[in-house]
Amino acid sequence: MEKKNIYGWKLMHTYNELPPFFYTNQPPTPAKEPKLVLFNKELADEFGLEQDKLESPIGAAYFTGSQLPTGADPIAQAYAGHQFGGFTRLGDGRAILLGEQQTPSGKSVDIQLKGAGRTAYSRGGDGRAALGPMLREYLISEAMHGLGIPTTRSLAVATTGEFVQRERPLTGAVLTRTAASHLRVGTFQYALVFGENEEVKQLADYAIKRHYPELIDVENKYIRFYEAVADRQAQLIAKWQLVGFIHGVMNTDNMTISGETIDYGPCAFMDTYHRNTVFSSIDREGRYAYVNQPYIGQWNLARFAETLLSLFAEDEEKALQIAQAKLEVFHTQFEKYFVDGIRKKLGLFTADEADEDLFKQLLYLMETYKADYTNTFLALTFNRLDSLALYQQADFKEWLEKWQTRLEKEGKSAEEVQELMKANNPALIPRNYFVEEALAEAVNNQDYTAFNTLSKALENPYAHTCEQGAYANSPEISEYYQTYCGT
Ligand code: AMP
Ligand code: MG
Repeated sequence: MEKKNIYGWKLMHTYNELPPFFYTNQPPTPAKEPKLVLFNKELADEFGLEQDKLESPIGAAYFTGSQLPTGADPIAQAYAGHQFGGFTRLGDGRAILLGEQQTPSGKSVDIQLKGAGRTAYSRGGDGRAALGPMLREYLISEAMHGLGIPTTRSLAVATTGEFVQRERPLTGAVLTRTAASHLRVGTFQYALVFGENEEVKQLADYAIKRHYPELIDVENKYIRFYEAVADRQAQLIAKWQLVGFIHGVMNTDNMTISGETIDYGPCAFMDTYHRNTVFSSIDREGRYAYVNQPYIGQWNLARFAETLLSLFAEDEEKALQIAQAKLEVFHTQFEKYFVDGIRKKLGLFTADEADEDLFKQLLYLMETYKADYTNTFLALTFNRLDSLALYQQADFKEWLEKWQTRLEKEGKSAEEVQELMKANNPALIPRNYFVEEALAEAVNNQDYTAFNTLSKALENPYAHTCEQGAYANSPEISEYYQTYCGT
């Protein structure tokens, strides 16, 4: 019987070629009553999976870990990490990697089941996940993708037919998360602390081959590798800042080597602009506040550099100097990406020395007058300024004049400016109110209508359609009324 590539599965296992120190073989725990509740058909297509056949009980069996796809070799990965600054040994306590799907376009993508049962790294945990948080991760990660931000993706959510015990019993579910890889800064910390320099080297060579193959034969490749990871993180965090995304748990185990956003726990998007916005209830000191994200990125990269010292140079002093020098440029790199991005949000095509002041003044005004971050940029894009309370302020009007003068200096047409702004200012973000409303309907009433409508609107937030306008205001944000649709 032909058993190969059934339903399009084409799994490889390059990670499993690393020494067993890096993982444990672990099949998922079958679910009692698998049921597929969300399936990302477009993504399945992109991965070469037969989506029409997988939107079925067989798909539910695969995406709860109740049946293994052909060629799966399930493992739980080992890692460690600094959580809120404290170092801990971790590992996939509730996630199981089935393998690396080889896509028709030649990519290699980790297929991981989150909530698929206990592993050697579960410690006290039950290895399970609740439906609400898995739906939330699906929604936000796909929204991030729509916003053009590198991220892990979500292929499916399936319920298990079992309850998971939290403060009260909750519906159990598994999220199928996909990623360029699940290598983390914390994987390197694990190699350094619990292994020897040899394990760090094996891991670095593996990461280079997988994510930075252009560096395989270059001189000082480990230094170049570090620089490349830092550069991707600088770009990533700049993109977060530009849309007001707050990750919430930027622990070193939640920072990838590939440069994708990972681990959507207490994350959220900022409505009213304030630098010190924090969403996570466990983040009492605001360690992971909006304004701190670039600094924490740098702090995490310092931990990453520590793991690579033996590869930077034989002489310890010299290795430290290299690490220090590389780390110091991070903030400049980040600023460059951030300023480039915010310039586009304001319709500016070229750089001018005075731009930074212009941006800072705008952000300062938004903070002072408690303006909505996304909607302020939208009002500027569509010249709907009278929809803003901010427009009543004399200092904001002064700022508008400065901005106009700056725009005129470039000599672009109004259409060109608006096109640039439309492509860089999303029509909507997943606002907490709408997200919570959609999740409650899905979890409490098994009604996915609100969830699907919101997901659809978030697919391309730069389209600026009428449907998207409905999500610009939530009861918390009432000032920006979109009255132009259908009028
Ligand atoms: P996170 O906060 O999701 O980054 O997870 C931190 C660590 O806790 C990771 O090692 C997870 O695998 C583990 N973990 C989280 N939830 C559970 C659970 N329900 N059962 C077992 N381990 C868990
Ligand atoms: Mg994590």
